[in-house]
Formats: sequence, C-alpha cells, structure tokens
Amino acid sequence: MEDLIYLDYNATTPLAPEVLEAMMPYLTNWYGNASSSHLFGQRIADAVKKARGQVADLIDCDPNEIVFTSGATESINLAIKGVLQDRLDDKRHIVTVQTEHPAVLDVCRFLETRGYEVTYLPVQPDGLLEVEDFRRALRSDTALATVMLVNNETGVIQPIQKLAELAHEVGALFMTDATQAVGKMPVSVDDLDVDLMAFSAHKFYGPKGVGGLFIRSQSSRKIWLRPIIHGGGQEHELRSGTLNVAGIVGMGKACQLSGDQMEVDALSISKLRDTLETALLKIDQAFINGSKEHRLYNVTNITFPNLDAVMLVGLSKNIAISNGSACTSFVLKASHVLKAMGLKDDEAFGALRFSFGRNVHSSSVDYVICEMREIIERKKFVK
Ligand SMILES: *Cc1c(COP(=O)(O)O)cnc(C)c1O
Repeated sequence: MEDLIYLDYNATTPLAPEVLEAMMPYLTNWYGNASSSHLFGQRIADAVKKARGQVADLIDCDPNEIVFTSGATESINLAIKGVLQDRLDDKRHIVTVQTEHPAVLDVCRFLETRGYEVTYLPVQPDGLLEVEDFRRALRSDTALATVMLVNNETGVIQPIQKLAELAHEVGALFMTDATQAVGKMPVSVDDLDVDLMAFSAHKFYGPKGVGGLFIRSQSSRKIWLRPIIHGGGQEHELRSGTLNVAGIVGMGKACQLSGDQMEVDALSISKLRDTLETALLKIDQAFINGSKEHRLYNVTNITFPNLDAVMLVGLSKNIAISNGSACTSFVLKASHVLKAMGLKDDEAFGALRFSFGRNVHSSSVDYVICEMREIIERKKFVK
C-alpha cells in the first residue's frame, strides 16, 4: 500500500506511532482488569486514570466528567437516549439539524417511533445553521438540542456557543457531536458551554473502537443520564463492561499528542488543502461545498458538475478519497448533507471529499492534482 495516497482522514486516521507504543504494554504484559483490587489491577487503573486526565486536559473538563465508550456512535446513543429515557417531566421534543451524522439522525428517527417529536432544521446553502431558525424551533417542552461542531463531509463549523446559550434559555440541554473537531482544533467544553459532547479516538490518530462522552457534572447544571448498557457498573454506572484499557490508554496519548501538535499540524495541513483546492477549482465549473469562512482547515468538498464521483472513487486504484460520507457510500444515495445544502442529486453525485492529516506529502497533492485534471479533461468518468 506504499503508493496509496490517502486523503480520507475524516473517515479514519492511521494510528500515531507514539500511540501504538503507549498501548503495547496493555496489549501484552499489563493485561489486568482495571476493576480488580489487587496490585496488578491497580496498575491498570492508574493507566486509565492517566488517560482520563489526558482527555480531560484536551477538552478542558474534569476527568470525572468523561465516560469511556466504544466510539462516537455509542457516545451519541448514550447521550440522547440517556437524557430522554424515563424523564419525570413531560419534555419529549428534540431539536437537531438535517446535516448531522447518521449516528445522531438515526437515534432521533428511532425515538420518533417511541413517541418523541424531533425537529430537523434545514441549513443555508453554505451549510451553516441559521441561528434564528434554531431559536424559533426551541420550545418549552424541548428536552435536548443536538448540533455537530464540525461537519464530517464539508468541514463546516457551526456556532455552537451561541446555540447552546439559546437552548439553555428555554431550559433545554445541549449536546454536540464533536467527532471531527476534537484533536484538530481547540475544543473547550466550557467555552462552548455544552452539556454533552461525543468524540472518537480514531479520528485523531488513536485506535478504533474507543471514544468518549463528556457529561457536565461540575456546575449547577449537573446532567442526569440513564445507562443504555447495564452490568458491572463501570464508568460511574453509566457504561458497564470491562474497560478497553489499551484503547483508552491510546486515546489518552492521542489527546496529549494532538494538544502538543495542533498548531503545527493545522499550519502544514491547511497549506496542502489550500494548494489542492486552488488547483482543482480551476477545473471546468468546479465549486466548493460549504462555507469557506467557517470551515475546518483539513477538508475540501468539491463538486465537479460533469463527473461521476461514485465511479471515480470506486475505480481509482491509488487515491483514497470519498464521495459524500463513507458511512452512506454503500448505498447509492446522494449525500444527505449536500442535499440539505440545496444541491441537486446530480451536483451531489459529482462531489468529492478530500480530507487531510498529519502524514500527507506535498508530492502526493501534486500527483492528485495531475490525476484529477487528466481524469476530467479526458472525460473519464463523465456522467
Ligand atoms: C466518524 C464520526 C462519527 C462516528 O464515529 P464512530 O467512531 O464510527 O462511532 C460520528 N460523528 C461524526 C461527525 C463522525 O465523523
């Protein structure tokens, strides 16, 4: 796979070598159970504690406000179902956005079959939520509003702080899916003023199958959740099951590395993204999907109106990019995110997502530019 050019970091990232190194002892010699009271178990518990501190440092919370899970999908399920299940009051309304990740949208759709009411807000053509729309959607019976920080397909950054403030004004809780933001940009749960926040280690050079949920408990707004997984009572009884120690240690290390390298990473990655974007936009009628101003530095989503992007992604052997979101690309459906931004099916089917990360070389970017020009000018993969 040496000659594979990987520009799909929003789908997943490679494990950082330092992360693997930190994990190795817990995959080999230190196999104890963090819940065991003997010294062997205690040493493991200490490693988990250290990781919890590293995660808390990165997102600016107390270590006890973090629950380790199997990833963002589980965190989102725990957050939404956990706050809504068996509420004593009669608040049964949720506010979310049409461009959310399926992990949020599918939980909402499920809850609709259980008697909850969900408002799916539209977005503007640039992918941003209109704050006034959000304000109007909130009601006295709104239990929870959930809006992602950074969109996985376009990189568009929503004004979370403002939205959280509005939600709190009507007594609703506010959650954010920050899976594409944590580790790439500064994320402080206090600055954002969110009550719940989901993230996943493999999106920032940690291992797959581990993530976390921030649950605010240090202020007057202590959040009460019901678990969705019951058993041994781990993680303050909120997520039972033997801890994924190696994974948790890896996520802690990935958090520490991201914190240390964030500025340097952002600078070099954004340069490469901009180089690619500028060159590709010169191709006939190409346009960017998503706000240029409110967008994360590592991704560009571009529509080439005459291109069959699905064919291209399937057949280009040495470039790993994405058409729409990876999670939905098994099914040939136009991206729900691009459709919500007002693209026609045709325009959405011509969209490619290039997402960058730490190990991308500028020579790879040059190669991709040449390839794309060639493909489009020779009218390969035209519709
Ligand atoms: C990847 C992703 C998820 C899901 O993460 P998992 O690790 O697959 O559970 C959720 N939301 C966003 C925005 C993502 O990018």
